Parts: sequence; C-alpha cells; structure tokens
Amino acid sequence: MANKTLNLDDGLYAYLHRVSLREPAVLRQLREVTEQEREHASMRSAPEQGQFMAMLLGLIGARRVIEVGTFTGYGTLWMAQALPDDGEIITCDVSERWTFVARRFWEQAGVLPKVRLELRPALETLDALLAQGEAGSFDFAFIDADKVNYDGYFERCLRLVRPGGIVAVDNVLWGGSVVDETNQDESTEAIRAFNLKLADDARIELSMLPVADGLTLAVKRPVGADAG
Ligand code: CA
Repeated sequence: MANKTLNLDDGLYAYLHRVSLREPAVLRQLREVTEQEREHASMRSAPEQGQFMAMLLGLIGARRVIEVGTFTGYGTLWMAQALPDDGEIITCDVSERWTFVARRFWEQAGVLPKVRLELRPALETLDALLAQGEAGSFDFAFIDADKVNYDGYFERCLRLVRPGGIVAVDNVLWGGSVVDETNQDESTEAIRAFNLKLADDARIELSMLPVADGLTLAVKRPVGADAG
C-alpha cells in the first residue's frame, strides 16, 4: 500500500501557511508569545489546525464547546472567535500560569464573555457538567491534555455532545511513537489503546487526520443508529 500522504518538509509547510493560513493578528501574537516558552511550545496547537477547527465549528453551527486542555488558550481563541455572540466555550486546565497568559489574549480579542475557564482537574469539570444534566448539550469537544486520561475525557465528552456533534482529539500520532514498539512510555501506551478502541467504536463516525501531530474526529451517531 503506497503512502498517499505527503511528508511536509519545512519549505512545503511554510508554503501551506503562505497560501492558506488566515491567522488574525491577535492569534499570531499569542502564538509568538507561546513559542518563546521553548520547553512547552509544542503543546500549542498548530495554526492550520486551529483554523480548521474554527471552520468545523462554523460548518456544524456550533454554539457550545468544551475544551480539555487550555494551555495558553491559542486553540481556545481560534474556537471562541468562530462561535456566535451567544456561544460558549468551557475550557479546562489546572495551570494558573498558562491560563493567565490565555486570559490576557482572550480579553484583547474581545472573546472573554464567551469563555468559561474551569481551573481544576478536567474529569471533575466534565463529571459536574454531566451531573447538572448537560449531556447532549454541546456541539463540539476538543481533547488536548494529559494522554493517560484520554479515554476518561473521551467517554465524558461523547456523552456531553449532541448526536451529530464532534469530539476532536489531538496528538493521536504522538510524534510517530505509536508505531515504535520499543516505546512503552505511559502516554504512548495510553494513546495506542485509545486509538485501537476508537477503531471499531460503533457509537461514532471516525476519521484520523495526519494534520500536525494527528487529529482524530469522532462524530457522535444517533443512539440506536445502525453500526454498519
Ligand atoms: Ca496538543
């Protein structure tokens, strides 16, 4: 089977940005600030991925979004800008340091009224939303946090989104380590198990995109939908 996905070298990747990236100035500034944090910069979403998710939100008419893993709020800002004025994004993180940066840029971009930051373990926030009867009330969820909890985040987010809603999951190719059998790191193993589980999960329509570090899209099927 021939590999039909191009390897993007730096030149081709720069070209892709040059001819397709429409990153607003405030997002570019936030990206540049995040990139100065060298050791953590890889945690930020790729700009073309942020733009793609913003487009997805528009396509499905999203109004309510959950994000698991805020970091400096770059992905949050892409999504918040794509939501209508009465839209809401609930974003979960445990880091005051990073979300402090995030808040500054959300304010500058004028999206602060649409963003609800939950500073506590995301599993707690998701469980609280479910306990409050919020199942099926979200249009989109984006999971991009600690990999060992991916399955727990996914199961909760799948309940929280409506049928036809999307759960997007980042880093599913994990730098390619998913196919490196010598790599038995806890996060790598968690991502492998997660990917394998979704492969034949009848509750969702599935697509894994080789964008950035790998992005899985799971569209929630109506309950009782034919699994075929
Ligand atoms: Ca990520």
